[in-house]
Amino acid sequence: MARGKLSGMKTVTVTLPAATAAPYDIRVEAGALARLGEQVRAVAPAPSCAVVTDSIVAPLYLERAKASLAAAGYRVLTHTIPAGEQHKTLATASAALDTFLNARIERATPVIALGGGVVGDLAGLVAATLLRGVPFVQVPTTLLSAVDASVGGKVGVDHPAGKNLIGAFHQPRAVITDIDTFKSLPPRELRCGLAECVKHAIIRDAALFAFIETHVHQLLACDSPSIEELVARNVAIKAAIVMDDPFERGVRALLNLGHTFGHAIENVMGYTGIAHGEAVALGTVAATRLAIERGEFPARDLPRILALLQAIGLSTALPGLDPDRTFTAMGTDKKVAGGKLRLVLPTAIGAAHVVPTSDADVPAIRRAIASLANA
Ligand code: NAD
Repeated sequence: MARGKLSGMKTVTVTLPAATAAPYDIRVEAGALARLGEQVRAVAPAPSCAVVTDSIVAPLYLERAKASLAAAGYRVLTHTIPAGEQHKTLATASAALDTFLNARIERATPVIALGGGVVGDLAGLVAATLLRGVPFVQVPTTLLSAVDASVGGKVGVDHPAGKNLIGAFHQPRAVITDIDTFKSLPPRELRCGLAECVKHAIIRDAALFAFIETHVHQLLACDSPSIEELVARNVAIKAAIVMDDPFERGVRALLNLGHTFGHAIENVMGYTGIAHGEAVALGTVAATRLAIERGEFPARDLPRILALLQAIGLSTALPGLDPDRTFTAMGTDKKVAGGKLRLVLPTAIGAAHVVPTSDADVPAIRRAIASLANA
């Protein structure tokens, strides 16, 4: 559970099976970067630390992070990767490994990811593989990475054969979120983060859904108390699911609500013109319509989902989407198990389940996709 008052620092503790990793805290706080050094030292004391960031975040926040780390006594090594998903590759990770190995880092040296999910995933792989594993600290600077990517220990890079196909589980020693950094996010990135928050609310927490509904304007304006509350509540959901299923063998699959449809939409759009969060929002709408057709979700609640996504500024329809190509692309999603598609479908606002599908479900799945194109 999240601890703390409506305003001020909030902490969520992740406790994993003993053999997996030590418990770690996720701290959510305005202005946390100023205290980064002392917070890292508390979990990973060492003579030096190794910061990975990207070319957009570096000019915004690297100096502040370095100053705090240096003040806490660290010799600060840095490696800046080019911003963007297209750079989440083994070659980019390899260049970071070169930088830190050439600087003769030690087993105790923490790798610190300062950036969004791309930096977090890539730096995590670097931390997992440097000297067979060094301490890792996440400092997420996007809403999406704060509520999703930085929690749970999944790290990795993309391969031409698919996204996130090279990776590992490497849990952080701490996740330190300075919500003030979200103020510089492009509005589209903020909306994509909110799409993941709505997803968390639909699968687990009707009260969170209502909170987003009533605070949507404050959240879009990046109002600190509202954002802090949002992040802490979302992190608590992700942490609870990760604690139940650290290696994604069961309940963690619920986090993929909207993703099987969403990945297929991204695929047919050629990964251009549509952001991941935008595709997840559309996928959530398609999954909800399918659940309604199966008699598993109350039809009266669909307008609430549509209205909330629209209030955030996310599209709930994609005129021109090719249903046939999208359906075919769903079959290539890596969540296909035993040749059959497994889909996460909501059963209420606040609950979802994983459903194995059969050939009999194909017409309904196609109708759910077509509804996005025709809406
Ligand atoms: P991102 O890291 O590419 O960040 C989005 C953009 O925002 C980038 O251009 C970045 O430079 C910029 N940016 C970051 N912080 C900023 C700030 N404070 N102000 C201004 N600009 C800023 O993408 P993302 O949306 O944060 O994360 C997406 C990635 O996360 C994907 O690669 C995805 O696979 C991964 N992910 C991982 C997990 C996991 O469990 N490991 C879960 C969800 C997503």
